Amino acid sequence: MNLMYKSTRSNETVTASQAILKGLASDGGLFVPVALPKLSVDIDELKGMSYQEVAYIVMKEFLTDFTEEELKNCINKAYDSKFDTEEIAPIVKADGAYYLELFHGATIAFKDMALSILPHLLTTSAKKNNVKNEIVILTATSGDTGKAALAGFADVENTRIVVFYPKGGVSPIQEKQMVTQKGANTHVVGIKGNFDQAQSGVKAIFGNKELEKELDAAGFQFSSANSINIGRLVPQVVYYVYAYAKLLAEGEIVKGEKINVVVPTGNFGNILAAYYAKNMGLPIDKLICASNDNKVLYDFFETGSYDKNREFILTNSPSMDILISSNLERLIYKIAGCDDAKNKELMTALTTAGKYDITADMKAELKDFYGNYATEAETAEVIKAIYENTGYVIDTHTAVAAKVYKKYKEATKDETKSIIASTASPFKFTRSVMNAIDSKYDAMGDFELVDELSKIGNVAVPNAIEEIRTAPVLHDTVVEVDEMTDAVKKFLGM
Ligand SMILES: *Cc1c(COP(=O)(O)O)cnc(C)c1O
Repeated sequence: MNLMYKSTRSNETVTASQAILKGLASDGGLFVPVALPKLSVDIDELKGMSYQEVAYIVMKEFLTDFTEEELKNCINKAYDSKFDTEEIAPIVKADGAYYLELFHGATIAFKDMALSILPHLLTTSAKKNNVKNEIVILTATSGDTGKAALAGFADVENTRIVVFYPKGGVSPIQEKQMVTQKGANTHVVGIKGNFDQAQSGVKAIFGNKELEKELDAAGFQFSSANSINIGRLVPQVVYYVYAYAKLLAEGEIVKGEKINVVVPTGNFGNILAAYYAKNMGLPIDKLICASNDNKVLYDFFETGSYDKNREFILTNSPSMDILISSNLERLIYKIAGCDDAKNKELMTALTTAGKYDITADMKAELKDFYGNYATEAETAEVIKAIYENTGYVIDTHTAVAAKVYKKYKEATKDETKSIIASTASPFKFTRSVMNAIDSKYDAMGDFELVDELSKIGNVAVPNAIEEIRTAPVLHDTVVEVDEMTDAVKKFLGM
């Protein structure tokens, strides 16, 4: 029997491969499995397994309409030498926690964990459903997603990818990473506007029925690499299971011992994956949700009221600067007793009033979650303190989680062993990280800082950074916001 996926806003029900192809349900809802699957093996059996083997054990429970061969093929194409370690997601024990390093892929941020496999899941899904059109991925990015999607889709057969970014609105390293992207099917466009305008522009293109017809006639169809795609969520469940098995194998925990998981959160995808892992039977106790100054989730866990009506704060952990955490909808649906009407009502309120309140019963269902946040000063402090005490250098996003973990322990005295999801390499946010350690670094240039970080942290400069030092710029298109559709058509030769 196939595990089916249902919209969080209606009865729309599809198979896993259809959910991956569609991304979003027709009613605007998100696809969720009708029942969360359980792990089919005893944790002991996972102890000696490779990342790829664990990935198969976990993902086959979710993507039941993929054959064993199809799924293993996707996994092996994704988790290969693009990662700079065979472990794929190594664990570093430092400062009283286990840092699960999710940044060893092509673009040194955790988005690679899912975006290296999504293109293969998508092309396999297209074949399974007899889609003949070429898939065109459209993405608006504030920095990390764009590059990870480009790297994932570059030269993948029967796909093209167009990434829009706000010209002048991303870090110099992020921009250089994108405009040097190789691959004949990749296209990077700067827009004269901000991220919101890029995102609205992409949404408008998706919603353009006329264009959809034109595209179909030319043999194309759009799809999304956004984190609401179930094809991005499922691969993220894997590393929590893998990490637990590894801690067990290394004798750091005993079988059945519960651990906590701390996740620096933006769109709520990563922590939702940990929640799914817990539901699969993984012994996770608390899910600790860490926010930066954009602490809409902290306020939600405290009060049961989700309210996006507030100032948007630009921080040094930009991938978490977000006021609408899209994936939270999947949790809301679940704690509403999988009631799509109730969920829809709340999501409509979010669109119209910018806020909604959950009931006391729903709030009681959130007891496994703990939310807190770290200010900019606290984030910098913790980077410096951990570096000075242990020599380990963490990035700004991971630092938000490290600080919140300290607050959690202080507040609860809970000494349960904990995994901190380490979501980016410090080399991706070199300037913020180095400034946190010592303000004297502010005078140095971007690549000088990279070399200095390598020296003080005693880690080699990642390939992803080494490459862009001298790489030629391959994309220099910059357009007005109202020229985005034309840019897409031009790229497709229409
Ligand atoms: C995307 C991102 C996050 C936030 O993850 P979500 O799944 O959106 O909650 C955190 N840190 C980094 C470095 C990211 O790129």
